[in-house]
Amino acid sequence: MSDMRRRLETVIVAAGRPPHVPGAPLNEPVTFASSFVAGGELEYARYGNPTWTALEAAIGALEGGACVSFASGMAAVSAVVGLVPAGGAVVVARHSYQHTLALLDDGARAGRFEVRRVDVADADAVEAALPGAAMVWLESPTNPALEIADIERLAASARAAGALSVVDNTFASPLLQRPLELGADIVVHSATKLIAGHSDVVLGAVVTGDAALTERIRSHRGLHGAIPGPMEAFLTLRGLRTLSVRLERAEANARELARRLQDAPGVVEVRDPGFGTVLALVLEDAAAADRVVERVRLWIPATSLGGVESLLERRRRWATEAPTIPEGLIRLSVGIEHIDDLADDLLGALAGA
Ligand SMILES: *Cc1c(COP(=O)(O)O)cnc(C)c1O
Repeated sequence: MSDMRRRLETVIVAAGRPPHVPGAPLNEPVTFASSFVAGGELEYARYGNPTWTALEAAIGALEGGACVSFASGMAAVSAVVGLVPAGGAVVVARHSYQHTLALLDDGARAGRFEVRRVDVADADAVEAALPGAAMVWLESPTNPALEIADIERLAASARAAGALSVVDNTFASPLLQRPLELGADIVVHSATKLIAGHSDVVLGAVVTGDAALTERIRSHRGLHGAIPGPMEAFLTLRGLRTLSVRLERAEANARELARRLQDAPGVVEVRDPGFGTVLALVLEDAAAADRVVERVRLWIPATSLGGVESLLERRRRWATEAPTIPEGLIRLSVGIEHIDDLADDLLGALAGA
């Protein structure tokens, strides 16, 4: 069976391993090196490391393109934003990751490019913003509004308008959404979240299906030096190996939790995109939401998402969160614990609040 025909659940386990030869380790070891003996493929470790190569092979195979790993999701975001030519325009989901928006605003303030914020769920509005744009930055589902973009339609419209389309695929993971297959040019990941999956590493990735784009991204990494540590690359690949089973449990928990929360006391709205592991729970106001966050015992009050442990936070506690996000919105990152324990803890906190 060719690698191309393998199911993604198999690719996750099999990709990026050393050759099956007698005596070889099953996993690519951590290579701690700053320099390699001259004459080989690798010479200096800001440009390459065998542990990155293994991780990049696996993420690339999953997304269907070539992967370049970075020190963090934001380093990956910065590399892609670096592709925008001076004087260009970037169309961006208004509820994108808040530091992506902050980075774009920085570029706009410095006069490098123009930023146009749009509601990605409104494809007509996105298309209306496209003329003259160099890049369209999509997230789906968005954070934490959980809006869904029609990636296939918008990638095609972007191409027709001469703009690069980028999808931050952090919330979906390549198991639930493969943007390159849907026509997007570039995929960005904060592998810190679902891909690594254990809240113990920060790492980012860019995947493209175009060799020239990959080369520009790789060159950016070498010049800016935002390289992942070999240990981080190893941990990320180890975490990735179990993504399909983690996701299976966490998604089942998320759907069931959304159902049980529907009629819980004080709940104004439950936002469930129908896939993935993040839900949003809207309560009356900030005080009601803060009381729930204070009363839970199993759920951990913390930012971030995609780990095996369930986390929650009231998003507007961040001064930088979009004012269009309700004050009483709690983002839930659903983990792989037993559903009854997760539900009991949260429903108990809601009843007591
Ligand atoms: C966390 C996150 C990022 C940034 O990634 P880091 O690894 O924290 O630098 C980018 N996009 C999304 C959607 C995220 O959730």
